Amino acid sequence: MHEFSLASSLVQYVSDAAKKSGIAEIKEIHIEVGEMTHIDPRQLKFCIKIASQNTIADGSRVFIKKRMPVLKCLKCGATTELKGGKNLSDYTMACRSCGSQDVELERGKELVLKRIKGIKKGTP
Ligand SMILES: [Zn+2]
Repeated sequence: MHEFSLASSLVQYVSDAAKKSGIAEIKEIHIEVGEMTHIDPRQLKFCIKIASQNTIADGSRVFIKKRMPVLKCLKCGATTELKGGKNLSDYTMACRSCGSQDVELERGKELVLKRIKGIKKGTP
C-alpha cells in the first residue's frame, strides 16, 4: 500500500525531528498533500495512526490539508492554479495568460510536513 509506506517514513521523520528539538510526545501533525499525489487523506491518516503505534507520535492528531496544483508556464512564466478537478485529465494543461501548453506542474505532487506540536521533556 502506497499510503502505508509513506506513513511509516513520515512517522520516522517526524519522530526524529521531534527528538532533535526535545519533544517527548507528539500531539499534532500537520501535513499538506498535493492534489496530484493521488493520496487519499483519510487513508493516510489511518496509516499514520498505525505506523505511529509505540513511537512518540502515538496517539497524535493528524491534520491533512489538500494543496491545489499549480502550473508554471515555460513560455511566459505565469502560474495557473488548477481547481475543481479530481484527476489530471480533468484539467486543461495550458497557461491561462498566454494559452501555451508548454507548462510544467510546479506544485501538486508533493507532501509537505507543515508543523508538529508536542510536549517537551520535563513538562508535567
Ligand atoms: Zn504563458
